[in-house]
Amino acid sequence: MRYIEPHAHMVSRVTDDYRAMVAAGCAAVCEPAFWAGFDRSSADGFYDYFCQLTEHEPKRAAKFGLPHYSWLCINPKESEDVQLAEEVMALIPGFLDRPNVLGIGEIGLNKNSRNEVRVLERHVDLAARHDQLILVHTPHLEDKLKGTRLTLEVLKNDRRIRPERVIIDHVEEHTIRMVLEAGFWAGMTLYPDSKCSPARAADMFEVYGAERVWMNSACDWGVSIPLNVPYTALELRRRGHTAEAIDRFIYQNPVQFLSQCPKFRL
Ligand SMILES: [Zn+2]
Repeated sequence: MRYIEPHAHMVSRVTDDYRAMVAAGCAAVCEPAFWAGFDRSSADGFYDYFCQLTEHEPKRAAKFGLPHYSWLCINPKESEDVQLAEEVMALIPGFLDRPNVLGIGEIGLNKNSRNEVRVLERHVDLAARHDQLILVHTPHLEDKLKGTRLTLEVLKNDRRIRPERVIIDHVEEHTIRMVLEAGFWAGMTLYPDSKCSPARAADMFEVYGAERVWMNSACDWGVSIPLNVPYTALELRRRGHTAEAIDRFIYQNPVQFLSQCPKFRL
């Protein structure tokens, strides 16, 4: 088996996770910027985090021969403070030329507040001005439907944005259709106790097909399973899907999306 882990917060994982991922067939890992589990007190904290994502974490992954890529932004949980968000966004252009940076992410909404929408629009503008791919986080539970609708509106209102260069992550049964119908990519996030289980992802794969979809484990500092992508591949195999169909879902699709950034190479 070979697969891409397109969304994993490796700075919060132990080295053993890298070894297990490579042993399971992981060919590349991509790490979006996100919340650290606590609010950072200044833009300087983000500067150090961006250095960690672009200099230090790639070295840790390289010890296992695993290419490591990253996405940069201030995550929605901390973007309620618009002034801090402006300061952090001003740092990002200085990092965009780094060899492992694929685009802007994971941007999006958390509580669907006015300030979050404003910062989302500014991130979308930043991506458009610098011709970057976009990775979007959608809110959890009851806020997801509204947050996904609002996010799609923001993206559609910016005419420079091409939907095939945007992935909307954490889709669930009630949001995947609107994402795919609008021409965007859809990401399924496999979590032990929220978002999407391997069985639910396999169901969605069977209902919506293998066009413009990927899976990720998003493994972070909370309860998560870094090998959930290959575990879901086992579920698909158990259901009788072909090796070619599974390979397309967990390897060829993410490669297709990510290769829109010329820096992504295997
Ligand atoms: Zn994430």
